[in-house]
Amino acid sequence: MPAAHPLLAPLNEAQRAAVSAPLGPTLVLAGAGSGKTRVLTHRAAWLIHECGASPQGLLAVTFTNKAAAEMRGRIETLLDLPGGALWIGTFHGIAHRLLRRHWREAGLPQNFQILDDDDQHRLVRKLLKEQGLDEQRWVPREVQGFINREKDEGRRAKHLEDRGDATRRELIRLYTLYQKRCDQLGVLDFAELLLRSFEALRDQPQLLAAYRHRFAHVLVDEFQDTNGIQYQWVKLICGDAGRPFVVGDDDQSIYRWRGARVENMQHFRRDFGATVYKLEQNYRSTAVILGAANEVIRRNEDRLGKELWTEARGGEPIRLYAAFNERDEADFVIERIREQARQGQPLTGCAVLYRSNAQSRAFEEALVAARIPYRVYGGLRFFERAEIKDTLAYLRLTQTRSDDVSFERVVNLPTRGIGQSTLERVREVARQRELSLWDAAAATLPSLPPRAAAALLAFLQLVDRLAEAIGGQPLQDQVRHVIETSGLREHHAREKDNKGEARVENLDELVNAAEAFEPEPGDELPPLASFLAHATLESGEMQAAQGSDYVQLMTLHSAKGLEFPTVFLVGLEEGLFPSERSAFDLEKLPEERRLCYVGITRAMQRLYLTYAESRRIYGRTEYRAPSRFLGEIPPQLVEEIRPRLSVSRPLHVPGSGQERDHERGWGGRQERSGGNPRPLAAQPASRSRQAAGEDLPFKLGTRVRHPKFGEGIVLRFEGNGAHQQVQVNFERAGQKWLMFAYANLQRADGG
Ligand code: ATP
Ligand code: MG
Repeated sequence: MPAAHPLLAPLNEAQRAAVSAPLGPTLVLAGAGSGKTRVLTHRAAWLIHECGASPQGLLAVTFTNKAAAEMRGRIETLLDLPGGALWIGTFHGIAHRLLRRHWREAGLPQNFQILDDDDQHRLVRKLLKEQGLDEQRWVPREVQGFINREKDEGRRAKHLEDRGDATRRELIRLYTLYQKRCDQLGVLDFAELLLRSFEALRDQPQLLAAYRHRFAHVLVDEFQDTNGIQYQWVKLICGDAGRPFVVGDDDQSIYRWRGARVENMQHFRRDFGATVYKLEQNYRSTAVILGAANEVIRRNEDRLGKELWTEARGGEPIRLYAAFNERDEADFVIERIREQARQGQPLTGCAVLYRSNAQSRAFEEALVAARIPYRVYGGLRFFERAEIKDTLAYLRLTQTRSDDVSFERVVNLPTRGIGQSTLERVREVARQRELSLWDAAAATLPSLPPRAAAALLAFLQLVDRLAEAIGGQPLQDQVRHVIETSGLREHHAREKDNKGEARVENLDELVNAAEAFEPEPGDELPPLASFLAHATLESGEMQAAQGSDYVQLMTLHSAKGLEFPTVFLVGLEEGLFPSERSAFDLEKLPEERRLCYVGITRAMQRLYLTYAESRRIYGRTEYRAPSRFLGEIPPQLVEEIRPRLSVSRPLHVPGSGQERDHERGWGGRQERSGGNPRPLAAQPASRSRQAAGEDLPFKLGTRVRHPKFGEGIVLRFEGNGAHQQVQVNFERAGQKWLMFAYANLQRADGG
């Protein structure tokens, strides 16, 4: 009786059916929070426990390393297995592992290195420069994007046709050159990891047969975000007899811009003749949150169609806050976080989700000021910070002198008097004689002026000395030694601003990371090589130290698959979310809406939505309308939070804003799908007002008294309505910005 089985007990009927489905291609199609990941985990355990699969015979693909670690933990606990038996990881992690084992078959040097996005960008730029191409015309990011897109579809340059298009012809030529250079350098970009491992398997029948035999069971989470090559990869490794078990939600496909193809779900069903299971009961969110999510996503067309429901009744209303600007938005969020902390809730239960990385700064500053610990996921990953990459570059050079990318990075860092003309000479020799920069530097020495030669020699000797000194040392000592001896620590310690201090802290943090580093089970590389690969592949998840309590900040994209009791979905403005480029794009807008759906469905108990009337971002101040997505949420689920009005003077004069408020539509209004007409209370419409003074509560220059700060002079007003802010120069307390509605200012000059 399956229901009695302990592995099935914590599941509902539909989940049980999926977990105990007969062996064969299976697709679980289900909405957010309906237990897809739980089903996948239980299926893995079920296969081992009930179907005689060996733990080594399982290959599970997740979307992040964090998810992989969690799944590994859960399966090992469910089955009481020793750690390390299972192959669980991201597509990139697994491809990397295969290539490390089969570098020969893949035509790679044993010590191949991985290029992250930034390294790849530098390499493309360098190539364009060598080719004498103008960066305005051939934008490095675009060239890079072209190459990656083709690779993501499994296409080499030789497969591409220019279709008589001169631009395309040039891009194809650059792709060819770029790949040639990567092969010479023994480096792989992220897309290459997948493509190269795919080709190695495809072209070596014995290798393929061995892995097909080994991985009798392939499981994939978040299948809606697989790209072309990942899909091919799954097909290849499963073969005709394979029994892949994949789970996904077409409504959560959010990586189209990176080559993901939601159609893969349909293709999978067709190509494999998969049996489909649907899960529709949501276990994560309150009925209120789920109701909002369902309403938003309903507006997309071409959905595979499923309606989520929950047994949970009601729930707190969704709270909406219209902030004056991004600082006010951050303050609002932080006040709510404080409130929760006061009630004894852990900070880790709170997540701030935003559309773009640039939005994190205001929150970080406010959190620092409030002394609330936090972690930012994604964004500039720890391992992408300049000082960290510099250290890694030294470490890489100690392992592989021919690593040109690293050579370029640190040859004159800290400055050691190696000038551009010397470097040009070295590059020239490298090009002419097809040498690595390292070898070219050695070859150039005799022909350089004495000072330049001495400086360059000092660098070469430094790296040799480092390599010698760290051989055989424990990993953290290797890292520490390189930081000290390369001069990087001193270099940053000398920087005057507190940026230098932060950089030194980061360097210390790198030593800690090395100390805490544990190679993936089954990894056969020496610890340093394994650590360097990890640093490149790790996707920003490691920053969250375990065991401590902190607020989590991340983009909506990195929040996929996660859940939090309290979610702050911030920056809901037209032009930001949906982003500017997608607002009128029939393909991109639905993806933004899916992203909104992902955001809403991360929340378990409480959801806060915020937008700012004005926002400083990318160095400009922007005034934007509230996001159309707000208009798509049923008003009865939302409670607006507005600052309490506590002044008797009217804050508005007729004609200055209030009337226009009623005309101002939500973004959703103009849309074909038709948002709700004016679902919520009117928003203040006018922007920053620095009017001559007649519509301000006090004239500029008025002397006022504040209950706490004493007397001062009114300098300036910003904003209006409930959000009006006033700047006062207090005699004792100095200049301060106050929310006018709360400030309780009295005239002090009796006028
Ligand atoms: P997403 O689409 O966001 O990836 P998901 O479909 O993978 O979500 P899970 O993360 O597996 O959903 O589950 C969502 C939450 O519901 C988790 O906290 C999980 O433990 C819980 N849950 C799932 N199924 C059940 C169940 N049958 N009984 C109780 N709780 C459940
Ligand atoms: Mg999931």
